[in-house]
Amino acid sequence: MNLLLHICCAPCSVYCIESLRGEGIDPTGFWYNPNIHPYQEYKMRRDTLLDYAPTISLPLYVREEYGLRPFVKAVAGDIAHRCRYCYAVRMEETARFAADHGFTHIGTTLLVSPYQDHEGIRRAGEAAAARHGVTFLYRDFSVGFREGQEKARALGLYRQKYCGCVFSEEERYEKQIRRDLDRFDPERLLFQESCRETGGKNIGQGGAR
Ligand code: SF4
Repeated sequence: MNLLLHICCAPCSVYCIESLRGEGIDPTGFWYNPNIHPYQEYKMRRDTLLDYAPTISLPLYVREEYGLRPFVKAVAGDIAHRCRYCYAVRMEETARFAADHGFTHIGTTLLVSPYQDHEGIRRAGEAAAARHGVTFLYRDFSVGFREGQEKARALGLYRQKYCGCVFSEEERYEKQIRRDLDRFDPERLLFQESCRETGGKNIGQGGAR
């Protein structure tokens, strides 16, 4: 088996690669994640993987694409179901690249997360693989999610706080966003206090930033 493993980030790859190697499979990594925003976050995850791969002797291909605008345009009409598109786009490119470079199988580190839709990923992976004449390798890596995350922490790898897209970042901070709405209610005294702190200058709607 010649496996091209789509890698969503270095921490998620830790357990997946160990587990595959334990089965006697030596994967080649493939970075393609136009769903990660904003740019500094995208760069941080990509560069963390670039630093990590040589430390475990992992061959790695990088398909560079920061895809904020196409992604947002594609999912704007149905934000609730955006993950379908996100899986399909990444699996399609992984399968296409695999076929073009002599790989027989594709897989993805997305399957380490118990928070991802495994059936949705499997469907997207199998459909893309079939279109390009390769095979999708399903593994439920989520059994090693905690172990992988702990190892990533011990290795000092950058560990992100949200899945990837701007919408997942908003969901991650949903409670804080609601608290801020209350905190910066223009009717509250905080507005006056902020004005006092800035010498009476209005610093914006709600009184603070
Ligand atoms: S939540 Fe994650 S999987 Fe879903 S669309 Fe956003 S980045 Fe992709």
